[in-house]
This record gives sequence, structure tokens and C-alpha cells, in this order.
Amino acid sequence: MSNKGVLLIFSGPSGSGKDTVLDELVKVDSDVVVSMSVTTRKPRKGEVNGEHYIFVSKEEFEKNIESGKMIEYVQYGENYYGTPKDPIDKWLAEGKTVILRIEVQGADRIRELYPDVISVFLMPPSVRALHKRLAGRGSEDEHSIRCRMEIAMNEMIRASDYDYIIVNDRLEEAVIHTLDVIKRHR
Ligand code: 5GP
Repeated sequence: MSNKGVLLIFSGPSGSGKDTVLDELVKVDSDVVVSMSVTTRKPRKGEVNGEHYIFVSKEEFEKNIESGKMIEYVQYGENYYGTPKDPIDKWLAEGKTVILRIEVQGADRIRELYPDVISVFLMPPSVRALHKRLAGRGSEDEHSIRCRMEIAMNEMIRASDYDYIIVNDRLEEAVIHTLDVIKRHR
């Protein structure tokens, strides 16, 4: 791996607002790229293949694992999620700041492979706020919301393993704090 660029893990429970923060971040910093994951989850309303995720079948995902295309992957809820390897090393060699929007197990794997990685955990302002965001999204059924809340609790316990914890109470502030972290490590 070239260490010209900066690799940053961006974790946080489902519903903590990672997508919104990262959407704002790429608008204000042209050196930031967000890695596109592959998933077997079905697209939510408004999600586009090749823009939010690469949506594939379980069979295709398993083929990607076998051919060594994934740098890490997990089973989260009932679906697989994984990070394709090639773009990461290319962007780092180009000096980009590469953000991996991944959950805590994937983060553990990346820390093993890239010891210089920086990690940020995005925390919701409260458990109640997290539930409200998940339910308000309208894309998940009651079973899925309960499952995501349970995973969220276990993920938040792991927040202290991260280099930085940012509370996403006000979007603008969360974006500024994330930018500060990036600038500190460039
Ligand atoms: P969602 O279904 O809400 O888009 O994502 C569920 C969880 O999977 C989120 O915590 C998200 O960060 C995580 N995730 C998305 N892509 C990847 C990936 O490629 N690898 C890992 N380990 N987690 C991912």
C-alpha cells in the first residue's frame, strides 16, 4: 500500500447519519472519496445501483469473496456487505482521502490490514433519537428496526476503540469535526 493518501474508517450505527455527513463532506472537500460497498441488501427507495452501493445477489457476492476481490466483508442482519479492494489502493496511491463507511467488524479487519488507518465513530445524540431516525426512514419494517437497534447497541459499546467519536446532533458541526480530523492527518 502507498501511504500517500489518508485512509479513514467512518463507522456508526445504522441511522446515525453517516450518509448525510459524508454527502456534505464530499461537496466541500474534493480530495475526499467514499468507497462504494457491495451489498446483497435490496435498494431502499431512492438508492441507485453504482451510486449508493453495488447491489448484487448472494451468489454474485460469494463469487466476489472466492475470487479475492473483497478487502473485508461481513454479514449484517440478513445481508452481506463488503469493500472492493482495488479502488482503495489506487486512490491512496493518488493521494486521496479514502473513506470506508463500514461497521465495527469490518473496521477491525481494516485495522489489521492498514495499521495507519484513522477511525471515526459517528454517535447519535441519544438512543431515542436513533430509534426515531430509523423508524422515520420508513424503509425498514418493525423486525428490521428492532434488529438494527440491537446491532446499534453492540456497535456503540465499541466506540471507545475508535480514534475519534463525533456526536451527530447538528449536521454542520459533525461535518466540521470530521473535516478537522481529516486535516489533522493529511
Ligand atoms: P445500510 O443497510 O444501513 O446501508 O448499512 C448497514 C451497515 O453496514 C452500516 O453500518 C454500514 O456502515 C455497514 N456497511 C456498509 N457497507 C459496508 C462494507 O462494505 N463493509 C462493512 N463491514 N460494513 C458495511
